[in-house]
Amino acid sequence: MIVDPAAVAPALRTWDELSATMHECFACPLSRSRTRVVPGVFPASARLLLVGEAPGRNEDEGGLPFIGRSGQLLDSVLAEVGLERADLAVLNTVKCRPPDNRTPRQSEGATCRPWLEAQVDVIDPRVIVTLGSSALAWALGTGVRIGAVHGTEHEVRGRTLVPTYHPAAALRFGPNGAPLRALRMDLAVAASLLARPL
Ligand code: SF4
Repeated sequence: MIVDPAAVAPALRTWDELSATMHECFACPLSRSRTRVVPGVFPASARLLLVGEAPGRNEDEGGLPFIGRSGQLLDSVLAEVGLERADLAVLNTVKCRPPDNRTPRQSEGATCRPWLEAQVDVIDPRVIVTLGSSALAWALGTGVRIGAVHGTEHEVRGRTLVPTYHPAAALRFGPNGAPLRALRMDLAVAASLLARPL
């Protein structure tokens, strides 16, 4: 059976249904470079959703998002601002590892988008943080520069959005680089939004 995300995903109403069906997806070329589909994680109490780019080698092997060096850095910055990964939902814009960890193509992101948007609706987070350019493009469209919008409040699918840098960029530019500084500040903004009374 060929699963068409656009036809199938919007009708699925639970995390388990979405994850199980996603494992049968061969809708874009990334199905050929993956070891497994990585749907993400969703603890039932999650009010904050992090959206990254794509599974890397560690995630492709382990089946979970952000479990390599980027994930370790992310965990330490989350702890600095009083957030714990165990309380957060974490997804990627595409669910399968691109070859050689290249950036997902726009067409691949577009094909996978119905999975992501159905997941967002099931999770129903109060705040969404996009990590990096691919997730930003999903939320605000292509052509928006991360340097221009990071740490500011926007809206996506009716939820509050705070864009920031991907932890891989923070690693690449090092401990004194602008991306790490921004990641700290922007996740602190997200934490303060969660603490704001409804
Ligand atoms: S990346 Fe998304 S659309 Fe492409 S095969 Fe994987 S789950 Fe399907």
